[in-house]
Amino acid sequence: QDELFKKVISHAKEYGFIFPSSEIYDGMQAIYDYGQNGVELKKNIRDYWWKSMVQMHENIVGLDASIFMHPTTWKASGHVDAFNDPMIDNKDSKKRYRADVLLEDYAEKLRQKADKECAKAAKRFGESFDEAMYRETNPRVKGYLDEANETMARMAKGLEDGNLEDVKALIEEKGIACPISGSKNWTEVRQFNLMFGTQMGSTADGATTVYLRPETAQGIFVNFLNVQKTGRMKIPFGIAQTGKAFRNEIVARQFIFRMREFEQMEMQFFVRPGEEMKWYEYWKEQRMKWHSSLGLGEENYRFHDHDKLAHYANAAADIEFNFPFGFKELEGIHSRTDFDLKAHEEHSGKKLQYFDPEINKNYTPYVVETSIGLDRMFLAMLSAAYTEEKLEDGSERTVLKIPMALAPIKVAVLPLLKKDGLPEIARAIISELQLDFNCQYDEKDAIGKRYRRHDAIGTPLCVTVDHQTKEDQTVTIRNRDTMEQERISISELGNRLQTIVSI
Ligand code: ATP
Repeated sequence: QDELFKKVISHAKEYGFIFPSSEIYDGMQAIYDYGQNGVELKKNIRDYWWKSMVQMHENIVGLDASIFMHPTTWKASGHVDAFNDPMIDNKDSKKRYRADVLLEDYAEKLRQKADKECAKAAKRFGESFDEAMYRETNPRVKGYLDEANETMARMAKGLEDGNLEDVKALIEEKGIACPISGSKNWTEVRQFNLMFGTQMGSTADGATTVYLRPETAQGIFVNFLNVQKTGRMKIPFGIAQTGKAFRNEIVARQFIFRMREFEQMEMQFFVRPGEEMKWYEYWKEQRMKWHSSLGLGEENYRFHDHDKLAHYANAAADIEFNFPFGFKELEGIHSRTDFDLKAHEEHSGKKLQYFDPEINKNYTPYVVETSIGLDRMFLAMLSAAYTEEKLEDGSERTVLKIPMALAPIKVAVLPLLKKDGLPEIARAIISELQLDFNCQYDEKDAIGKRYRRHDAIGTPLCVTVDHQTKEDQTVTIRNRDTMEQERISISELGNRLQTIVSI
């Protein structure tokens, strides 16, 4: 798995998806840039989310709020006081870790051990094997799972009660070592606020501390009435937003999984109090359907219902994805109650209420949120799509089987040779197609090499222009996944592409 992850990271760089930021200065931890192909894929994922959330829902509208917000926003939301992560340093390696992540990784390893045992047993017992039963009754498997659960529960309690000594004691008791040095010599656990602050205005005028937003959600809450009134929105309705968020993460590792600057795609759905659980279940299901529609493999997703809830939530679940380093949170669905709107009412002195004509009542709506990291979705897609194939002739190819609709480049148009008028025909084809599809012209290297290059960035279709094209206006098209080639007439290309790249 580690091997796969390394390959995905170097592939992402080699093919212009993701570069370390400021690389010529040796980069910065947990900050990355998207290259020429990455920016297209990222945009396509974002557009697909936007289309399915905003365009396909009559009662959801968009918003683009600023990154800077009035500082009181973050007081009201609880971020100034409570947006902390527990950090711990290893005295020997001088590396800093998140205490909760160390314990989560420990629990995840136990779960993986349990999975392995189950897989072994399934092999042994064949078709009659009942995994659920085995998990509950086999003492070794049960032991692993119980210990994982107990570890998480004790950690949650320690953090909730503010007993950081207990969290440290748990790390010591489990014998957790620094992943770099193997040392078990830990400092105390301390809380660390994740918000980036900066000064706005000159100091002479009296500068104010403002924060780079750590989530996009608050921009939606403070605009709730603006949108509701001007859009004449009726509850239930949603406001969707995509945009950058910033967190001074303690553990910055796992490539773009946890970054200090990242992008969120969030939707806050405003509902009548008392109806939030219905909508919470609805959005859990809808969001899982969205993921399924991408075809990355149903087995790669699972729900994780939270036992420990954030201060603002009365129900919460994560959609976890099977990343190369195990199942981890990809998206959160949270029933946030009226916590945020009430807090903003209190701090601003302005009412954020809705008059519900159906029941003739004023109330502060409840909120169900769906929140997904765009970069995490990108990583999920890249790692699920990365495929190494051995071909019949003994050669190998690397192909990115990303959903065709989201591929950075939809069609590569390739003249077989750089002469005899073939480049001109290829360019003419592109000028027809480029209004509707992102096309690329490529004439360098042998045709086989060009096919491989496009496999590696996930281009669904390669169109090859050869001498026959001049005679009968036909071209060969080659499908990325099947590698099958077929001759079709140039005039059919647009329609054919359309069917291939629609979801
Ligand atoms: P985690 O537990 O992994 O730190 P979180 O529970 O703090 O995540 P939320 O505050 O619920 O995350 O944010 C919603 C989504 O934003 C997450 O599901 C994740 O996809 C994304 N996200 C959060 N933090 C980061 C980050 N540092 N880098 C990239 N994506 C992130």
